[in-house]
Amino acid sequence: MVFYSPGRTSSYPEQPPTKGYRYHYLGGGNEVGNVGVVLEDHKQTRLLLDYGLAPTTPPRYPSEAPVVRDAVITHSHVDHLGMAPWLCANHRTRLHGTALTAEISELMWYDCHKVSSIEKYPLAWDKRDIDTALESWNIHRYKEEWMHNDWKLELHRAGHIPGAAMLNIETPERKILFSGDFDTRDSPLTKGAEPIKTDTLFLEGTYGGREHPPLQEEELRFINHVQRVVDRGGKILIPAFANGRTQDIVMRLHKHLPHLDVHVDGMGKKIAKMQMNHPEMIRDIHAFKNAWSWCRRVSGKSDRKKALDADVIVSTSGMMQGGPAIWYLNRLRHDTSNAVLFTGYQAEKTGGRKLQTEGKVNIFGNETEIPLEWESYSFSTHAGHKEIVDFAAACDAEEVVIYHTDPNTARPPLVETLEKNGHVVHTPVNGISEYLGEEYSRSN
Ligand SMILES: [Zn+2]
Ligand SMILES: [Zn+2]
Repeated sequence: MVFYSPGRTSSYPEQPPTKGYRYHYLGGGNEVGNVGVVLEDHKQTRLLLDYGLAPTTPPRYPSEAPVVRDAVITHSHVDHLGMAPWLCANHRTRLHGTALTAEISELMWYDCHKVSSIEKYPLAWDKRDIDTALESWNIHRYKEEWMHNDWKLELHRAGHIPGAAMLNIETPERKILFSGDFDTRDSPLTKGAEPIKTDTLFLEGTYGGREHPPLQEEELRFINHVQRVVDRGGKILIPAFANGRTQDIVMRLHKHLPHLDVHVDGMGKKIAKMQMNHPEMIRDIHAFKNAWSWCRRVSGKSDRKKALDADVIVSTSGMMQGGPAIWYLNRLRHDTSNAVLFTGYQAEKTGGRKLQTEGKVNIFGNETEIPLEWESYSFSTHAGHKEIVDFAAACDAEEVVIYHTDPNTARPPLVETLEKNGHVVHTPVNGISEYLGEEYSRSN
């Protein structure tokens, strides 16, 4: 087990950079999630971009951050902000992000803390540090400039989930754009990201080498499947992530199948309320509000029993690692006319993956056969291969740093296409410092 122990595990060099711009991945350079990047110039301007963890079993943590006064948090997924409380408590770091990211962060941190205590995984921060972190937020609107020494910073809409931001940096010598998790395609909840001209583009490569199916076709396939199960008298369980996916799915169901009885359970309910507090972050706030008042929100035990009579139940957790989804699955598994429809990636060793590969799920400690039909639908809000490559071209990026990616499967095809298109490509490795700018990367 990787034990995150402050003071022992820093990979950050003690010497400041002597030239240009240096970046250093504490995590997330050659893996998906677990992001933390330090960007620093020779004039000692230093910034941390994201500080998350990877909620795998066991979790992975980035190496210890050096002292940083300021960190920009791109969005409210735990793989980008899960370690921020440690940062604020230990270094008094100020966090910068959008208002919605800040509002949702509290919920994500409490959930992260709860999961670590239930599953008995070490966490380098405790509940009190959440309060410190919440007091550390500095809120910025999209396209609002602020100065960080002589760096001009701006957040821009990143697609992905409401409130998600890309960070645009203009230094006296260089333009740098940091994508965070992004998608240029619209989702029901958010509009897609738009390119910005830049010299260096830090680009997430989760879906390198993979193309998404056309969204409308995938939506139709999903809608038809739901209707087919309902027509045969079955019920559908849709495990969905709380932050973004739950709301997207409810909006799709409302748009295409308004005659169905859809119940929603889990943390996605609280997040939807927070999203509604920030209508400027939502693509179509009226459509969202209509969809949300149409579905039945489950609160309490009696509601949960009533939900068993619904046509569709949308519930956390998205990978069937606990959450109400397990409770529903345990009731629905007895009737083989029911079905489970996955709407996101199921990581290794999760309940969802076990159902897909072995037809079993661990339910309240017991290995349980699940003889139900299941299917996966691709409603990812990460850019696919084509969107990633097109974005780099539209940004006119001289060099591209591919991170948040599997270095063996997803990254090589991206590197190939990007190099063919004339970009200088960096392939960062956690714990190793690199320099920006062609003159530096060539000499290294
Ligand atoms: Zn991520
Ligand atoms: Zn994300």
